[in-house]
Amino acid sequence: MATIQVKSGLQKSEQARFHFDVYAILEAPQELYFGHETQVNVNMVETVRITAGDDVVEKCYLSPTKRRGVERRSLIWAPVRSAGVLLGDKLACGIPHTCAQPNCPICAVYGGLITSKTDVEIDGKTETRVPTTTVGRLVHGGGVAVQAIEPSEKQRAMHPSTLHRESGSQTPMPFKRQYNEPSLLYPVYNHCMSVTDSEFQAVAYAFLDAMARLGAGNPKGVRIYQVEMLSVKQPLLVLDRYMAPLGKRPIISPSLTSTSDAIQSFVDDALMVYGEKLSTSEHSVPRNEQIVFERWIGDKALKKLQDYAADFATGRLA
Ligand SMILES: [Zn+2]
Repeated sequence: MATIQVKSGLQKSEQARFHFDVYAILEAPQELYFGHETQVNVNMVETVRITAGDDVVEKCYLSPTKRRGVERRSLIWAPVRSAGVLLGDKLACGIPHTCAQPNCPICAVYGGLITSKTDVEIDGKTETRVPTTTVGRLVHGGGVAVQAIEPSEKQRAMHPSTLHRESGSQTPMPFKRQYNEPSLLYPVYNHCMSVTDSEFQAVAYAFLDAMARLGAGNPKGVRIYQVEMLSVKQPLLVLDRYMAPLGKRPIISPSLTSTSDAIQSFVDDALMVYGEKLSTSEHSVPRNEQIVFERWIGDKALKKLQDYAADFATGRLA
């Protein structure tokens, strides 16, 4: 009888595996441009239509796929200190050639695909890579702005791709571009399935590093919105590491348009774990002498993510 393939193909790890979740509300401190999914060169931002009560409203959208792309690039372009190169160049892993190798810290979590036999150059040597599929174990969600404020349209005087252009007899063409208004709040979520602490380091690094670069063109960048939680002003950020999903998930309904309602909803859910209202920003749930769920909130969550990111910098980027 033939043996059938029943395994996932994922290599066994010496480290324990967990699920991880990151929940945050991001704020754009300035206008943001992120082109519409299918429309190229028309300078329209991506929006979605939402039913809010009896109304249908249009909301700006920081789409999860775009956020994922910025995060992957932040890893590909991360500086490898001693080698004087970028991480993607060191690994011969980029876009569109994702290396899909099991030891690649980027593809291990973001996934990769090689469709046909490919030769790449690493350290002056040629390496042949066979067709490979690695399914990502990191997924991105959220991104629908809270406020129902439609994009603004601005006129720009010159083409953004050239510094100097002599048009001859042609009149230089001004162009219009839409922008997401400043101060829009974007609830976002990253979930990791069955990853090790080492694998999560890349995810934490990319989540934090990408914040300065979210947006297409300029201006760019977001920050984590801060409010008072547990009597301290701190970022709206939650990190979970767990065997069993015991925390309420601070996900904002897209139908909410009030920032105060959305923030309250996030805080209420962030502070609710396994039927208990939390009074501290660090909490774990034991069960049968094991820790099955851990949650960090606000500044504690930020510090925990920063710990993972710093370990990534001193490990893979050293
Ligand atoms: Zn790779």
